[in-house]
This record gives sequence, structure tokens and C-alpha cells, in this order.
Amino acid sequence: MTGIAHEARLLIDGVLTEAEGGATYDNVNPATEQVIGVAADASANDVEAAIAAARRAFDESDWSTNLELRVASIRQFHAGLLDHVDELTEISIAEIGATRMACSSIQVVEPLKFLPYYANLAESYEWRTNLGDADTLGGPATRWTEAEPVGVVAAITPWNVPTQINLAKIIPALAAGCTVILKAAPDTPWSALALGHVIAEHTDIPPGVINIITSSDNTIGELLTTDPRVDMISFTGSTPTGRRIMAAASENVTKVFLELGGKSAMVVLDDVEDLGMVAATAAFGTATVCGQGCALSTRILLPRSRYDEGIEAIAAMMAATPPADPSDPGTMLGPLINAAQRDKVEGYVRSALDEGARVVCGGKRPESMTAGYFYEPTLLADVTNDMKVAQEEIFGPVLVAIAYDDDDDAVRIANDSIFGLSGHVFSADDDRALAVARKIRTGTMSINGGVWYGADVPFGGYKQSGIGREMGQAGFDEYLETKAYAKPS
Ligand code: NAD
Repeated sequence: MTGIAHEARLLIDGVLTEAEGGATYDNVNPATEQVIGVAADASANDVEAAIAAARRAFDESDWSTNLELRVASIRQFHAGLLDHVDELTEISIAEIGATRMACSSIQVVEPLKFLPYYANLAESYEWRTNLGDADTLGGPATRWTEAEPVGVVAAITPWNVPTQINLAKIIPALAAGCTVILKAAPDTPWSALALGHVIAEHTDIPPGVINIITSSDNTIGELLTTDPRVDMISFTGSTPTGRRIMAAASENVTKVFLELGGKSAMVVLDDVEDLGMVAATAAFGTATVCGQGCALSTRILLPRSRYDEGIEAIAAMMAATPPADPSDPGTMLGPLINAAQRDKVEGYVRSALDEGARVVCGGKRPESMTAGYFYEPTLLADVTNDMKVAQEEIFGPVLVAIAYDDDDDAVRIANDSIFGLSGHVFSADDDRALAVARKIRTGTMSINGGVWYGADVPFGGYKQSGIGREMGQAGFDEYLETKAYAKPS
């Protein structure tokens, strides 16, 4: 039997099983460019089997109605995952290039807290709400509502924080009583199948309730978005893919829940006394997941009067976070996920120079590293908000600095984006910061460095950053339908 770290099988109908014809594809370590093993390469027939299993489990087992079983199973799953934190960490380092530091927080350790959170929430949830008696069109009636699971959920996820996103989708869906087909990103198969391995070996989750698919083919997920047996698509990924999924889902009017891209702004108001905290937050954000995070603030808005001072402080901080081996406990900045992503980042930096921006630091591959998809932390100055690097998601360790005139101008620039995911405001005065934050149209905001992330905090986007909320109670309600009842009273 293969171990959790090298799980090269799919999870379909409760069984860890090879892809059709034993098909596999290479899994590559982005820090070394070495093939580290193989993953199952699912075919259309494998996807078909997964959908059929999820549909059957929803329609024919008692999963959707047996709250006790669901809560107990999620607690078993949690215990199983806690036994494998070290392996999950090594997988994340090997296949994402995640830093060991990030694994002790958002990549591995923090997401495991979603399991007890949703087990407890499902247990205490008000599944039935009494609406009382009323004189209705048909006479006096007693009315109430009941929450029911949506049904079969297709969860399609990206590679940047896979354990976090996989769990943020499957756990509330399972707690709600849905059955799930999880389709992992091609670059991060083992992170997903490690969950499958633990489910198969450590839990009583019935066959078909959760199915996990990996494939080298980016578009095998399309089969999930057009199948009438799927009741809901829960997607995290880029905005262009989100648009395609929404269009595909319209065929069957399938419910969509979308967590998409971002280009969030860090607004620094002119009364900030110490720019050190701002610079540290900006440099840390640029290093986090090598800048490959949807919610990171990738535009910094500095008051024109303090622009040069801000640029100097941030560049100094960035110099302190050079790219390095992600498995080293002291490393903050690891590699990009693959060569294509590095090409994309290089293209964006070139476009910024063409449009008149200036590289303050970085802007190139580290000369000392001969292997791995590394890129230096990069600060671009003299950027205006109409430039490509200010409007599009780069998904690399690149921060763009834009000057503004007054608070209203900062708000205008922050909102001048198709995205609306997150952001920061820094000020010596919390109330002033909050007044600015309230005018910025995003799903989450940090005031003076406050951290909003947590199992109980809803996360999601305005505008083209998505539809719906993940995590928190809102991230549970996404997987429920409301049914209203009445009987004569
Ligand atoms: P992507 O959109 O390329 O792929 C995401 C997933 O969709 C992958 O599993 C992929 O195989 C699948 N896919 C691709 N085309 C498909 C199609 N036509 N039909 C169905 N599935 C399809 O995104 P990515 O490059 O893996 O991830 C990076 C993106 O994810 C960034 O834009 C980032 O902002 C976004 N993201 C958003 C959040 C959030 O919560 N808002 C979190 C993390 C990442």
C-alpha cells in the first residue's frame, strides 16, 4: 500500500483506486524541478464513476439526514489528519514549494481547525425555524422552514493553498449533508489525495459521500460543470476560469459558488507614524505563498507626500526576505509553482517597464540559484493604476506602489479594479482607517494589520472576485437550501 505522502490513486465510491488503465502523470517539486513521484491521471470515465457514486450516496444513503453520523465522521477525519500533520507538511513543501513556516499556519495547521468548527456548527445549527401561525390565503396555518443539503457538490480547487481550500469546501459541504466530488488542481494532487487516504483509512464516511479526482488535464473539471447530476459547483480559481464555469453551469441552471482572483490595495494614510510596520506587512504579504495568494494586497497606495519614504522602507524589508529553500524553517519566500507561472511574472514585470514603471528591487531570478522556479521579491514604483500590473493579477512576489493625493483619491484608486477581495488600511487613527475601509468594496479588510483569517470568519469577494462566502457560518449556508412548510392550524 502506498503511504499518505505518495497517494497515486483516486478516491471513488469509498475505494482508493487507480485511474483508468493505471494512467499517471509526474509530480514536480518547484524548488528543485525534480520529478518526485506520480499522481493518478483521471479519465472522463473516472469522473463519470465519481459523479455516479456521489449521486447514489446522496439519493440512497442516509448521509443527508443522519446528522449524528456526519458529525462523528468529521471528528474522526479530524483525528486522522492530526495524526498526519508532518506528512501533510512534507507534501506541501514538496509539491507546492510551500515554506515550512507557511505549513505551520495557512498551508496545513490552520485549515485543520475547520473540521471541529463545522462539526460543532452542524450540531448546534438551527435546522428548523418556526415562523408561527398566520392567516394565509388558504386560512390559518402553522409555518416553518427547514434547512436541507443542496445535494451533489463538485468542488474544483487551485494549487496555491490546496489543503486550506480543499477543506474549506468539503468540510462545510459534508457537514451540511451534501456529497462531494473534489477535483484538485493538476499541480497539487498529493495534497488532495492525502485527504482521501485519511478518509478511506480512518473514517466511517460511507462510500460515495466524498470522491477525489486528480488529473493532468486542466479541463477535466468541465465534465463536472455540465453534468445535470451535479447540484452545485463550488469553485476557487482564476476569474477567467470562473467565467467559463458560470457559463457552463447556466446550461442546467446549476448553483455556482465562486472564489476568484484579487488585486487588493494596501492603503497607507498620511498620518502613519512608523512606516516600519507597513513595510513589514507589505514584504511579508509579497513573500506569502510567493505572492501566489488571491487575498494578498498586491497594490500599495502611498500618500504622494510620503512616497519616497515608503518605497525605501518597503525595499529594505524585501531585501530581508530573499528566496530560499522552502524546507528550511527560516525561509519566508519559496518558489513559484511552475515554469509557466514564472514566465507570466516575468512578462508582467517587462510590461511594467514598457509602461514607464521602475524596478526598485528584484525584477529578476536570483542569480545564486540554479534550479527551482524562484523569483526575487520585487517592488515596482512609479506605477499608475491604469497600468497592466495594477489592474491584473500577477500571482508572483511583485508589489506595485501607486501614489495618491488625499483619502478620497486613495479610495477611488482602491476601488478602480474589476476585483474586490480584500485589503488593508493603515492610519494613526483607527476611526479614520475604518472610515476609509468602509468605502472600499471588498469582502475582507485589515485595519492597522489586524488579521481576519479564521474558521469562523466568512471570506469572499465583491465584483469579479466571486459570488458567495467561504468559511464561517456563511460558508456553511452556501451548501444548504431552505424549504418552507405550512399545515392548517
Ligand atoms: P485556475 O482557474 O487555472 O484553475 C483552478 C481549478 O480549475 C483547477 O483545478 C483547474 O484544473 C480547474 N479548471 C481549469 N479550467 C477549468 C474549466 N474550464 N472547467 C472546470 N475546471 C477547470 O486557477 P489556478 O491557476 O489553479 O489558481 C490561481 C487562481 O486562483 C488565481 O486567480 C487566484 O486568485 C485564485 N484563487 C482564489 C482564491 C479565493 O478564495 N478567492 C483562493 C486561492 C486562489
